[in-house]
Amino acid sequence: MTHDPVLVALLGLLGLVVGSFLNVCIYRLPRDLSVSFPASHCPSCEHPLRWYHNVPVVSWLALGGRCAFCRASIHWRYPVVELLNAALWMLHAVWFPWDGLLVVRVLFASALLVLFFTDLDCRILPNEITVGGTIAGLIASFVVTPPGWVSSLLGVVLGGGVLWATGALYERVRGVEGMGMGDVKMLAMIGAVLGWPLMILTLIWSSMAGGLVGAVLLAFKADARTTALPFGSFLAPAALLASLVGQPVLDWYLGFYR
Ligand SMILES: [Zn+2]
Repeated sequence: MTHDPVLVALLGLLGLVVGSFLNVCIYRLPRDLSVSFPASHCPSCEHPLRWYHNVPVVSWLALGGRCAFCRASIHWRYPVVELLNAALWMLHAVWFPWDGLLVVRVLFASALLVLFFTDLDCRILPNEITVGGTIAGLIASFVVTPPGWVSSLLGVVLGGGVLWATGALYERVRGVEGMGMGDVKMLAMIGAVLGWPLMILTLIWSSMAGGLVGAVLLAFKADARTTALPFGSFLAPAALLASLVGQPVLDWYLGFYR
């Protein structure tokens, strides 16, 4: 299929602007702050930003990564999230046909981007994204397919259920909480959007990646046994990969059993 490069570039620009809002979500949602009020301000001196301080990526570069008023350094995460979101939207735009499902997929990718960083930064997966995304995914499954509402509903029940049971078992055996409710709700959201088969693929991929990183940490860090990994930060890229290439991988894999 061919896609108009101008439209893809425009979607990239929109992705930058939305990425700027995702930064607000990443900072404010785990701190229980409103994402709409007050307007953007420097977290260090609380001076409100002017519009030209708020142009995605460009302002950060022009200001040398520092606040225009107090010169406090602005985290590199701000331009990186904007660029990542723009890149993801453009990738989706050339990868998938332009239909209603594309809208669901790009919003899903942005939601995963937010969850990746909130879990990495604060070990928090905000309900606004996980529960909100589960509800939105279920509703969307009635409008656009795949996965269809049956698979979506099964994805929520199985995704939430499997992780919750694993966490409860771990807690009983080890006596410490191994799986937060945030992870449970996040996997339910992934099931709602991708359907149950791709949700399971996501769980397998993220567990493999988590196990690998955990083993490397155990080998190189003395206190690794007591550091809990942010599982949401593994679920996010796995779910993104499942959304992009999961179906062909699943078809190929299941082909061995036919
Ligand atoms: Zn400042």
